[in-house]
Amino acid sequence: MDQIRIENLEVYAHHGVFPQETQKGQIFVINAVLHTELKKAGMGDDLALSTNYGEVCLFIDDYLREHTFLLIEAAAEHLAKELLLRFPLIECLALEIKKPHAPINLPFSSVSVHIERGWKRAYLGIGSNLGDKQGYIQKGIEGLKENPMIRGVKCSKILTTSPYGGVEQDDFLNAVIELKTLLTPYELLDFLHKLEAEAGRERKIHWGPRTLDLDILFYQDFLSNDPTLTVPHPDMQNRKFVLEPLDELCPWQYNPVTGKNVRQMYLELNRSGKIGEVQEEVQ
Ligand code: AMP
Repeated sequence: MDQIRIENLEVYAHHGVFPQETQKGQIFVINAVLHTELKKAGMGDDLALSTNYGEVCLFIDDYLREHTFLLIEAAAEHLAKELLLRFPLIECLALEIKKPHAPINLPFSSVSVHIERGWKRAYLGIGSNLGDKQGYIQKGIEGLKENPMIRGVKCSKILTTSPYGGVEQDDFLNAVIELKTLLTPYELLDFLHKLEAEAGRERKIHWGPRTLDLDILFYQDFLSNDPTLTVPHPDMQNRKFVLEPLDELCPWQYNPVTGKNVRQMYLELNRSGKIGEVQEEVQ
């Protein structure tokens, strides 16, 4: 992706573990690489279609002078997040904070931290089979949209699905949601659990009825086989109610665990005539 680069921006600020650092302050040197599409701004010769690097520099200067962190790790982490929230065309960034006058009684030119942060694309399964199912799904989607760390929320069509997993219960409504997030996979999972709890979800029976169920199906290229968070979702290849809406939103999304993309898994499950049957599409 195209880049805007800011090199050796000097900011006088007060970060540090030692009292003299927070009292007297010192120079910090910032390097930032902002990954953003520049083609439209370039073709249109229009600043409104790009990220104003002057504003970015002023923002970095203000932020680092107005906040005090013990660690440059913390300064970098918080600044990266604020930049990504404040400047919507930046997809991801690399940020380096150098401390050339760090209190080290040895000859050195600088110490620094370097981090890379950005918006990650994730796909969620959303389902409900208890009470006002459509209302719960709607509320779940609204909850996602209200979180500033989440953007670009897009929902597939909603499907009615027969229950799956052998427990006698009402039909499900199911859909898939695409979004971009600054939350890590585990932070996203915690937030989904919070939304489920707000919908009055009780975890009584595994596979049992639920007001709201939110699963992480894919999270960018993240792979995990931790039972607390398994990604890609381990059973997606057997669930038509997952693959059908996934196929609508991201047919070419590759699952490295099955070695197949969504379209291939969906066609294969259809051919097998197995489980996870979808009954109809909800209007
Ligand atoms: P569920 O009943 O579908 O809400 O899932 C129950 C448990 O599955 C939760 O406690 C999660 O920690 C765990 N889990 C593992 N992988 C995932 C995933 N990809 N998405 C959501 N929950 C997951």
